[in-house]
This record gives sequence, C-alpha cells and structure tokens, in this order.
Amino acid sequence: MATSVKLNTGADMPIVGLGTWKSPPGKVAEAVKAAIAAGYRHIDGAAVYNNEMEVGEGIQAKIKDGVVKREELFVVSKLWCTFHEKALVKGACQKTLSDLKLDYLDLYLIHWPMGFKSGPDQFPLDSEGLTIGDDTNFLDTWEAMEELVDAGLVKAIGISNFNREQIEAILNKPGLKYKPANNQIECHPYLTQEKLINYCQSKGITVTAYSPLGSPDRPWAKPEDPSLLDDPKIKAIAEKHKKTSAQVLIRFHIQRNVIVIPKSITPQRIQENFQVFDFELSQEDMKTILSFNKNFRACPMHWGVKHKDYPFHAEY
Ligand code: NAP
Repeated sequence: MATSVKLNTGADMPIVGLGTWKSPPGKVAEAVKAAIAAGYRHIDGAAVYNNEMEVGEGIQAKIKDGVVKREELFVVSKLWCTFHEKALVKGACQKTLSDLKLDYLDLYLIHWPMGFKSGPDQFPLDSEGLTIGDDTNFLDTWEAMEELVDAGLVKAIGISNFNREQIEAILNKPGLKYKPANNQIECHPYLTQEKLINYCQSKGITVTAYSPLGSPDRPWAKPEDPSLLDDPKIKAIAEKHKKTSAQVLIRFHIQRNVIVIPKSITPQRIQENFQVFDFELSQEDMKTILSFNKNFRACPMHWGVKHKDYPFHAEY
C-alpha cells in the first residue's frame, strides 16, 4: 500500500499527516517532534490555529537534530478567510512562512470558500452572531494563490471545504493557470463523502480527510453528538484486526487513496495513529464502514450559513 499520493504537480504527498488544530502553543512543538520521530513526514497547519510559530519550532528542532531534511517534509498551511482580498494573500502566506521559519510551503490551501471582512478579528460577527462576509470572490483569490506558486513561496495550491459547484467554478475559470492539487474536507464513517471524493479524484484533485476521528475535542461538541471512537461497530472491526478504533478510522481513508490528518498532542497516540500500514481492511469491512454514513458534520461552520459562498447548502 502506497504511503503517499501523487499530486497533479508531480509531487508526492504523504498519505498520513499530523493535524494541529486545537493543539495548544505549549504542546504543539513537542507533538510535531514526536510525530517526526515516529515517521510522519506531513504536518497540517493553518494560520487560524494560532500556533504556527510553535509548529515551526518543532520542525526546526528535528531538522537541526539531523532526523529529517526540509525536502523530506511536506508542510501544509491555509489562507484564512479574512485574507481573501487579492492584495492580502501574499502577505498572509509570508507571515505563515516566517512563523514556521520556512522558505516555502509544500501546499497552501484556501481554508474556506468564504471571504470574511478583513481586519484583526479572525471571526468578524454581526449582531446575530453570523460571520460578516466581504465582497471578494474566491476566483480572484485563486489568481493570487497562483501568483504564490510563480513567486516560489509554495509548491502547490489547493482548496478546503469547497463543494462541487465551487470546484467546478475554479476549473472553468477563464485563464486558469494551475488546477487545485487538493481539496481538504471533513471525512469519516459518519460523513463518507462518496460523491465529492469521486468528483475530485475524477478531476485529478486529491482529497485530504480532516477530523478523521470525529474531532472529539472540537469546542462546540455536544454530549448527544455521535462518537466515532466509541462506536461499538467500529470497535468490532478494530478487534477483528487486533487494532484500535483510531487505527481503523485512519486506515479507512488510506484504502480510498485519501490523505488523512489525525490530530493528537499525546505521544503514544501520535505513534498509534501512524501504525496503520501493517494491516488491511477487507472489501467487506470497507463496505460496512461506508454504510455508517449519516451526513454528520463535526465542523459545519454554522456561523457562515448566510454567507453567499457557504459550501454546505449543496448536497455535495
Ligand atoms: P480529529 O483528528 O478527528 O480528532 C482529534 C481528537 O482525537 C483529539 O481530542 C485527540 O486527543 C484525539 N485522539 C487522537 N488520536 C487518538 C487516539 N489514537 N485514540 C483516542 N483519541 C485520539 O480532529 P480534528 O483536529 O478536528 O481534525 C484533524 C486535523 O484536520 C486538524 O487538527 C486540522 O489540522 C485539520 N482540520 C482542518 C479543517 C479545515 O477546515 N480544513 C477543519 C478541521 C480540522 P489528544 O490530542 O488529546 O491526544
């Protein structure tokens, strides 16, 4: 089983990466170091996680130790919604690079199709508690992303949380210079995304699955929400393979040629989540897991529901 997925740029993207959302600044450098020591070569970050300086410290420490070279790592970051204006994109990318102490990113994504009012507030909200949009169009933002490739700041560009129609709009944009290399979307057995994955893969756009364990530490989790890690049906499959539920939840993506980025700040779990290349789910297991779909979103970004570019009103 391949341990990486080929992008339409020709680069290889390691199929398992470390997620860093909610990893506190005081913990994330150690998590990154533990991940690199365990064999991870892909780190997923974003400016809005407000921890890129410490992610960068972890990366730099392992490069300095001689454990990895920069070119062996695949580092991903994302343009936040308040930086969609064309004139703001390069500065946002340069800030991320300087925080990470890197001179290029392997992949830079538009974090959401929605532009928010620019300014110091990452989540500008109106009196109803809904995000205040700006008048940008993600097609223009995409042109500024293309310029980052030409300027050598990033090797590849992609999108995140885009629906089919929004992807199609980019692919059909007059004068398109670079196709998106990747779409990072929520995906797990309760949100199996069969149609969107098929669509992306048919267009040569790789898919990364975020919140693969169901994001149990998301700040808005409710006790009545379904829990993947506690699901007895997942546990039964895990026991059959003498693996943990987390390992089954991660392996599920690998067998769909989908990149997966479990987050942990716990060294033992970071290792566990990488021990996923020594077993195989049967076709029957895969079919059973796909049947658990209930279109449950851990990250619905409900503050954006009235935004003109909110992605989740469409079926997929
Ligand atoms: P996740 O990876 O589904 O779950 C993380 C949670 O699972 C943490 O509470 C972690 O605890 C726990 N955990 C990790 N490994 C475990 C194991 N082996 N056994 C039991 N529990 C385990 O959630 P996520 O952070 O939402 O998603 C992963 C990454 O995807 C993010 O960190 C981020 O990089 C990316 N993401 C992107 C977007 C986007 O809009 N593009 C949205 C959401 C997420 P500890 O850390 O305490 O060990």
